[in-house]
Amino acid sequence: MSIFGTVRVKKGQYRIKGDFHHITPNMPIRNEDDGWRLMGVTNPREMTYIHSYGGEAVFFESLPKGIINGSRCDNPGCEFKGTVYLPFRIHCPDCLGRNTVINLTETCKRSAKIHTFMVCERSGAFNTLDKPIKFINVEFDGVSTILMSYLSIGDPKIGMKVVPIFRTIAPTYTITDLSWVPQDTSQKDLPEGFTFG
Ligand SMILES: [Zn+2]
Repeated sequence: MSIFGTVRVKKGQYRIKGDFHHITPNMPIRNEDDGWRLMGVTNPREMTYIHSYGGEAVFFESLPKGIINGSRCDNPGCEFKGTVYLPFRIHCPDCLGRNTVINLTETCKRSAKIHTFMVCERSGAFNTLDKPIKFINVEFDGVSTILMSYLSIGDPKIGMKVVPIFRTIAPTYTITDLSWVPQDTSQKDLPEGFTFG
């Protein structure tokens, strides 16, 4: 059996394989103020969470291919027909219709700039990003929403032009596969595993 549980879908059902449970030794809990009397034991538990992307899967699937997919409401009956969304929205928030998937890669490369940013010296649990983390909110021409992401090189400034980079080598299929660098950055300076797509 593998160390990691794996999941695939066949005939509309999850098929899980491998070890989803691991036996881990208990440790005694003792009371140091009372002669180290036994109080209990720890029961370590490890969890594999099956996170379904649903209608957003197309967004995460395309990142390692150097493609940024957004979405657009094309419902003729919608008051806000034509509105473009990035981050990817499965449904239009105005008419609740299913949005059309659209490729925004060129729009992102051409027009991305930092709307605002936040630099975090400390992180939450299981952080995999380099610290300080330079979170940026990125705006694009013709897009109605602003994308939260992170800057991999340099210091963020409001209005700064940035371009997307993609984890095309060993992708994680999470949002960290997408990052941004200043417009004039060269390939050799990119973080390991990242390319311009
Ligand atoms: Zn709509």
